[in-house]
Amino acid sequence: MRRIVIIGAGQAGLQLAESLRKGGHDGELYLIGDERWPPYQRPPLSKKYLAEDFADARLFFRPLEHYTRLNVDLRLATRATAIERAAQRVALANGESLGYDGLALTTGTRVRPLPVPGAAHPAVHYLRGLDDAQALKQRLAGARRVVVIGGGFIGLEVAATARHADCEVHVVEALDRLMARVMPPVVSDFFATLHRAHGTQLHLGAQVAAIEPAADGSVEVRLGDGSGLPADLVVAGIGVLPNQELAVAAGLACDNGIVVDEYARTSDPLIVAAGDCTVHRNLRYELPHRLESVQNAVDQAKVAAASLLGQAQPYADLPWFWSDQYEVKLQIAGLSAGHDSHVLRGEPSAAGFSVYYFRQGRLIAVDSLNRPAEHMLARRLLSGGTHVLPAQAADPAFDLKALLVAT
Ligand SMILES: Cc1cc2nc3c(=O)[nH]c(=O)nc-3n(C[C@H](O)[C@H](O)[C@H](O)COP(=O)(O)OP(=O)(O)OC[C@H]3O[C@@H](n4cnc5c(N)ncnc54)[C@H](O)[C@@H]3O)c2cc1C
Repeated sequence: MRRIVIIGAGQAGLQLAESLRKGGHDGELYLIGDERWPPYQRPPLSKKYLAEDFADARLFFRPLEHYTRLNVDLRLATRATAIERAAQRVALANGESLGYDGLALTTGTRVRPLPVPGAAHPAVHYLRGLDDAQALKQRLAGARRVVVIGGGFIGLEVAATARHADCEVHVVEALDRLMARVMPPVVSDFFATLHRAHGTQLHLGAQVAAIEPAADGSVEVRLGDGSGLPADLVVAGIGVLPNQELAVAAGLACDNGIVVDEYARTSDPLIVAAGDCTVHRNLRYELPHRLESVQNAVDQAKVAAASLLGQAQPYADLPWFWSDQYEVKLQIAGLSAGHDSHVLRGEPSAAGFSVYYFRQGRLIAVDSLNRPAEHMLARRLLSGGTHVLPAQAADPAFDLKALLVAT
């Protein structure tokens, strides 16, 4: 292939470019990003970057010279505006048009805007990119009262950071428990206790009705029951939307994400897609799904690069994820959706415990809290399809590692 164009210079875009070069692509390679920054890590934005004196440059995956060395034409602050599939061209916002022999879409996601009156107030912030994080950090420095809307991973990480900065913190969550989309009640309850113990006030099963401006530049977050929470800073973390508009306009199959097969191929054989923007198939799972994780961005990008190079290999990597809140590191291996039973290994406490999920007697996922070694072991058990009995997982004296040797 002579020229490959990658749209989206994030985690997946960078991985794709590197995998293409490693896999032998010696033709032209463009990496087009609409942000002004070279590819950078997002996970620290809600963690150390917000909490500490953390230089922006530490977030960048690679120094700029790396792209020159790799002979990658990195275009920053450049938006791709259209894909003309018949002509095999990509239109850029600066008026340029780039022909392609192969195209990759790694456009990620954007935040879901808060759908209530008054949400455009400058006290209301979101967190997706470095520009968001800079603005949020600046506002946090002068804030005393913080309201976080959304009790998911990012909202809770920001809440912990704001408490660390000694702010009064309220978390408003529409569902009746934290991280309810992906966590069982035992883990939600553990984190609710943790956040309350650190002085955060949780409003569960609560709706936000409006953001009302106050005379001094602060706001009042009006809840559905009529009560109000005064805030100098509101952070909305209510989920993301896949950046699929380019693909939709080009007539590619999309369904809450760009639809790709297990080879990361879209409905056009010349176009692959990877990362947060895809609804994808993984050989490990029956149903297609969309993941927002570093693991998926990296591993799926490798699969997409192999497909462009004509060396297609199916996506079968185990999903994993992490979240840091106060002194607790939560690590997730596998996908627990669809489990029919679970057991605990250890008692819920900050000293550490894990939850093992089973479907029809088969281990499908493990959540570990402050047990990094057990998380790594869980990844090996799950990757290899090791047979683990619920009674073995629940018995802290049973050596699960021995099962690896046995299989
Ligand atoms: C605050 C925060 C904390 C996180 N914490 C964790 C964590 O602890 N663990 C974990 O596993 N994951 C975490 N994630 C998720 C992880 O960062 C993402 O899953 C990962 O960045 C996805 O990579 P991606 O390349 O698919 O998308 P992105 O990194 O979003 O990159 C996509 C890029 O494409 C650009 N783009 C979109 N459209 C166009 C266009 N038309 N033209 C040009 N450029 C375009 C976007 O602006 C963006 O720069 C976190 C995310 C955030 C925001």
